[in-house]
Formats: sequence, structure tokens, C-alpha cells
Amino acid sequence: MGNFAIAEPPVVTLPVRSMKPFPVRRIYCAGRNYAEHVKEMGGDVREKPYFFMKPADALLPSGKRMPYPPATSDLHHEVELVVALQGGGSNIPPEKAGELIFGYAVGLDMTRRDLQKAFKAKGQPWEMSKAFDFSAPCGTLTPAAECGLLTKGKITCAVNGKLRQSGDLGEMTWNIAELVSELSKLVAVAPGDLIFTGTPAGVGPVVRGDRIEARIDGLEPLLVEID
Ligand code: MN
Repeated sequence: MGNFAIAEPPVVTLPVRSMKPFPVRRIYCAGRNYAEHVKEMGGDVREKPYFFMKPADALLPSGKRMPYPPATSDLHHEVELVVALQGGGSNIPPEKAGELIFGYAVGLDMTRRDLQKAFKAKGQPWEMSKAFDFSAPCGTLTPAAECGLLTKGKITCAVNGKLRQSGDLGEMTWNIAELVSELSKLVAVAPGDLIFTGTPAGVGPVVRGDRIEARIDGLEPLLVEID
């Protein structure tokens, strides 16, 4: 018998290059943060980013199979830089955001696009198009102490060896410091939080058997096979 009414769920962690694992508290995701992707989705490039969330246990480490999710026939990849926080607070000025950053990883904001379109059309919350099981594949974290604060670098996503998405972190509409600052005006961010920072253009569908290879210069690649 443990200390709780039922067996306690495991702490969700991400592997870290050359360190103990990183314990995950919350996953925030930014939308609309690369102009070319905003255009392909039919949005206004001048708008502020918005945020949504995924549950921490939606994470899937690199090299694992992602079960094709239920309730969709249009599962999309969105390659994104993931920022992991070691500090927190509210109303953080952009110039202080760097101190909060533990490290970075390559992530995929997997999306049930058909559900998202249907929810948007009805004005309903589109959470269930984004926050489903295994919807957040994420590679090994690289500490900022090793790679420095990232401001630019190539970000790509290939499916079965064919390049689908290609951009540069420097093309973000709102840079990492500004994203952390904006998010902290809405909620108190805290150690253990992850922020998916938006995707460049070229999102598209994957099917069972597809192999996704997501890369960002200087970080560990993220490999996922759709099962
Ligand atoms: Mn996204």
C-alpha cells in the first residue's frame, strides 16, 4: 500500500544529453509563429501568437512508434523547437527569459487536422485535435549550457526521406524570449514546463508506416514511426 488511494501515476520525464532526465510539469504550445505557416493556414501574420496545451503524458520519446490516433483520417506533422524551463514566474520581461531556459529539443506538434477544422468551423475548443495520446513526440534535450541560447538554426521535417518542412528558427514572428514573456503574462510558468514554439510552413499528413525525421541544427534528431 502506498501513500495514495490508487497507485500513483509515473512522473513524466524527457531524456537529457549527458545528464539525468528532465521532469515535465506542463506542455504549452504556441500557434501562428512563422509567417509562412500562418499564410498556408489562412491567418493574419501580424497577429500575436496564441497558446494551447497538451498533457505532459502526451510526450513520446525519439525512436518510439506513435500509434495512429483514433477519430482522424488527417494526422499532420508540425516540427517545432521545444524550450524546457528551469525557472519560472509571471510577467517576465523578454530580457530575463534566457535565465529561465534549461535547454532545447526537437518536437512534433502532431495534429488531427480534420478535427481541428471541424472544431474551428463550429467555434468549439479544438483541444481534442491537439491534446491526444502520443501527440507530443519530443527528442532528447540539449542543455543551454552546452549549446548556448538558440536564436537561429535550420529546422526541418522529412517523411520517408522526403523533405516536407524547412525553415530557420530566426524566422519566428515572436522569438523565444518574447514567447516566454507573453506566456508568463497569461499564466505563471514554472520549472519543468515545456514550450513548443510553433511550426514553419509545409505541414502535411502522415499515414501508418511513415517514418518522420525532425531536425534542428545542433540538437538531437527526433525519429518517429507511425504505427
Ligand atoms: Mn504547432
